[in-house]
Amino acid sequence: MKKTTILNLAQVREIEQTYPTPFHIYDEKAIRQNARALKDAFSWNKGYHEYFAVKATPNPFILKILQEEGCGVDCSSLTELMLSEALGFRGSDIMFSSNVTPMKEYKKAKALHAYINLDDYTHIDFLEKGIGVPETICCRYNPGGVFELGTDIMDNPGEAKYGFTKEQLIDGYQKLMKLGVKNFGLHSFIASNTVGNEYYPTLAGILFRLAVELKEKTGANITFINLSGGVGIPYTPDKEPNDIKVIGEGVREQFEKILVPAGLGDVAIFTELGRFMLAPYGQLVTKCIHQKHIYKEYIGLNTCACDLMRPAMYGAYHHITVLGKENEPCDHKYDVTGSLCENNDKFAVDRMLPAIEVGDYLVLHDTGAHGYSMGYNYNGKLKSPELLLKEDGSIQLIRRGETPRDYFSTFDFCDILKDMKYED
Ligand SMILES: *Cc1c(COP(=O)(O)O)cnc(C)c1O
Repeated sequence: MKKTTILNLAQVREIEQTYPTPFHIYDEKAIRQNARALKDAFSWNKGYHEYFAVKATPNPFILKILQEEGCGVDCSSLTELMLSEALGFRGSDIMFSSNVTPMKEYKKAKALHAYINLDDYTHIDFLEKGIGVPETICCRYNPGGVFELGTDIMDNPGEAKYGFTKEQLIDGYQKLMKLGVKNFGLHSFIASNTVGNEYYPTLAGILFRLAVELKEKTGANITFINLSGGVGIPYTPDKEPNDIKVIGEGVREQFEKILVPAGLGDVAIFTELGRFMLAPYGQLVTKCIHQKHIYKEYIGLNTCACDLMRPAMYGAYHHITVLGKENEPCDHKYDVTGSLCENNDKFAVDRMLPAIEVGDYLVLHDTGAHGYSMGYNYNGKLKSPELLLKEDGSIQLIRRGETPRDYFSTFDFCDILKDMKYED
């Protein structure tokens, strides 16, 4: 699919008067449209609920938009729970899907009456001894082995640290029932960033059959099945986006085939999508500040992996548009780099782009999820601001950029550091 930018050259020049690049920009209208399409695709299920994976884009302004669209939140840490609490999420609006969980995080989840999604069999005792088990609880399943769709190996659950084995689930449900649990959820996250409409229906088939088996073997009352995240987006322009309506219908087919005949037609379907909800609706707007000609041609940007770590961490592809040069031929080969003292700080390697000059704006696409949030402060680099293009066309600053003072704020070393002058 052709990649378009949220802002054109004239808009970026205008915005730069107030908010210099680099900045992250999010598109409110597109976020809302997509959230509505998701809701519509699963409207056949009475209890359907999306729990946005907060870790993807932990910004209260973004969470508020999704809250207005009827989404809950999926949290995995104390601060994500606190952020959700501040926005008024409570109880069944919050899914707490954590792993290697400290007791204080379970305590916080319990205080908010969030759904607790247990990652491991041993956490049953951990929870019981610490704060007791709630009336409703969810358990995370790991099928092990490799996960295939058709002839493609999609992911490798056998190597993943998450979840219960099937035997542990059967045993765990029984144990939890003895401890007083009345209602159960079942969760699994097997493959990440799937492009193609088969993943959710296939996963649903696996979880629905497992739910029937669990009900038969343990007598547990299963009230929801959480398909988690993993519905992906096409990062490269040669791929087509998933069709959420087709995905929703595929899950419905499995539901009617497996759950309804087993007397489980009242089960609510939950999702915990992050990437699908936000990735295409955020972009990182940067400027070329250097060019370097050695054994390769380098374009140096006024940002680095602190604003977008996926390329450095996974070699992930993010499409790049040079603003104002959208229609020029891509006849120059560049490595597009950030400023970290790390050779993996490259947003693109051997990328064919139009001829770039110092001062050109480069837009990195699909950074709306796992973009800002994954960034770090290596080299003492400071993270850029986040802006929102609102539905009325105006721009709102939804998180200011970090300053040196933020970076030094965790030291109690000397006042000079705290009060030191700096120029933006
Ligand atoms: C990260 C995560 C998600 C969201 O994953 P996406 O790939 O962004 O959809 C959902 N659930 C859990 C438990 C996660 O860890």
